[in-house]
Amino acid sequence: MMRTKGNVRAIDELGRIVVPIEYRNQLDIKSGDLLRMELDGEGIVIKKNTPSCIFCGAENALTKHQGKTICINCIRDISKIPN
Ligand SMILES: [Zn+2]
Repeated sequence: MMRTKGNVRAIDELGRIVVPIEYRNQLDIKSGDLLRMELDGEGIVIKKNTPSCIFCGAENALTKHQGKTICINCIRDISKIPN
């Protein structure tokens, strides 16, 4: 992972910041893309939002059902009909 020197940006009165253009270019982040933010100790980590299963968080073998993303393992799990 390439490390870069910190970029200092002001946060505005609504809590917004601008992600530096060089970061957006390097990570191919475009206007309208979803970003995921997580607290990490005393910092905030911002990553591109990758689709994941709403139940287990898996990021592969995904499909959509009624607008929700679900993985094949969870589909199998919840498809088990009790006798
Ligand atoms: Zn799942």
